[in-house]
Amino acid sequence: KLIAGNWKMNGLRADGTALARDLVSRAAKSPPTCDLLVCPPATLLAEIGSLLAGSRIALGGQDCHAERRQNHHESDPTVRAKATAGLGAGLIPIVCVGETAAQRDAKQHLSVCGGQIAGSLPEIAGAGQLVVAYEPVWAIGTGRTPTTTDIAEVHAFIRAELKKRVANPDAVRILYGGSVNAKNAAEILGVANVDGALVGGASLDGASFWTIAQAAG
Ligand code: PEP
Repeated sequence: KLIAGNWKMNGLRADGTALARDLVSRAAKSPPTCDLLVCPPATLLAEIGSLLAGSRIALGGQDCHAERRQNHHESDPTVRAKATAGLGAGLIPIVCVGETAAQRDAKQHLSVCGGQIAGSLPEIAGAGQLVVAYEPVWAIGTGRTPTTTDIAEVHAFIRAELKKRVANPDAVRILYGGSVNAKNAAEILGVANVDGALVGGASLDGASFWTIAQAAG
């Protein structure tokens, strides 16, 4: 499993370096069996990258302002272009899909996610080169999560969609993201086809992030 911490633009230099040091120390003392990734603010990438070098924790980058599809109206072709550029640069893109609350209420969640997968995955990508995250917009930063049955439904659907498009679809990791925390992580990570978590708020606290990593095995 992959546990990814999305710090977004939270924290200044002192906060980010302290958190990175804390995570490196935890990883050295009790290495988790899952893969770990943190995505610090763009302004701190170089410095956090140096602190993580040689540790079990990988470094990821992100746009410098969050919720790109909803608040910045990024279209599927834009997401696909960015993911393709990332692949071309030797990076592993995490492509996020997910429905709004209104779309969930209208029972459009599968068609929305299906359309986003069809429109925004790179044309050519294989296992190990791509991660997909199911992030229902209404669950991000709200403390609300779908039921495990709902998560299982969407993740199975995404797996089936990947089978139509990607080489080795079973090896593409599908993360769940949206209000994952130290208390609900074990239950969510136990759902079929959930290959890890994309964690926002709870990744800003070393102890919480570590509890989530341990829940992943
Ligand atoms: C996110 O920022 O991608 C996210 C899922 O945030 P949170 O865990 O705080 O809902």
